[in-house]
Amino acid sequence: MGKVYLTGAGPGDIDLLTVKALRVVREADVIIYDRLANPEILKEAKEGCEFVYVGKEDGRHTLPQEEINEVIYRNALEYETVVRLKGGDPLVFGRGGEEAALLKRHGIAYEFIPGVTSAISVPAYAGIPVTHRGVAVSFRVVTGHEAPNKEVSQVDWESMSSDETIVFLMGLHNLKKIAANLIRVGRPAATPCAVISRGTTPEQKTVSGTLETIAADVKAAGIPTPALIVVGEVVKLREELSWFENEAFVNHQEGETV
Ligand code: SAH
Repeated sequence: MGKVYLTGAGPGDIDLLTVKALRVVREADVIIYDRLANPEILKEAKEGCEFVYVGKEDGRHTLPQEEINEVIYRNALEYETVVRLKGGDPLVFGRGGEEAALLKRHGIAYEFIPGVTSAISVPAYAGIPVTHRGVAVSFRVVTGHEAPNKEVSQVDWESMSSDETIVFLMGLHNLKKIAANLIRVGRPAATPCAVISRGTTPEQKTVSGTLETIAADVKAAGIPTPALIVVGEVVKLREELSWFENEAFVNHQEGETV
């Protein structure tokens, strides 16, 4: 029986892969990878390494989690070093915990290899610090996949009225509802808001506006997934702190101000 490394691939920029992740990728006999893991990473694998794609699109799974679990289990029986490569960090909306629980049940050894989560790094590449002295003293990362008007919501909207930074993952399709809901619980309509698409890659694009305008702004810009939403006064710091040359280039092409 092999060992499974539940490994974070980082947000896109291959240089944000951790040294530890790179080491296990190079040692792997099989790599089971997601849509969000940069495929360039696979080029680091040794000769003869097997690749298994189990991609999921946003919340819609092309493979149900049970099947992914099954794939991991079967490969762990067959190979010595199994790398389960997932976008960002494996435990931030990555279902790494469920995969580990399955392995534990079967007595298969595993390790978590944390990755650079998009929740923090993608805002950073857009020049947005998630905390900033005097502006935001806390941040939270929330799923945007659960529709805010769902009857039994696990997301505590009422507690989002303070001025902390909120990062929504998997929320692009619910952007309008998310913005409306934040206004409903007391966030000012003028609260700065940004949507960052394909962060940390050469296609990174940022659309910024306010809670009131962001849905229309994003619709007009027509940006692709993956994308995340940042809400809070820290978004304004982007005007001063924007630095990512690739992004500047994309925006420049489109005649936008960076
Ligand atoms: N485990 C991942 C998150 C998985 S949920 C992590 O830690 O980053 C998938 C969501 O992450 C996407 O819907 C999107 O909101 C966000 N995301 C992942 N990579 C991204 C990127 N490069 N740019 C923008 N958003 C990204």
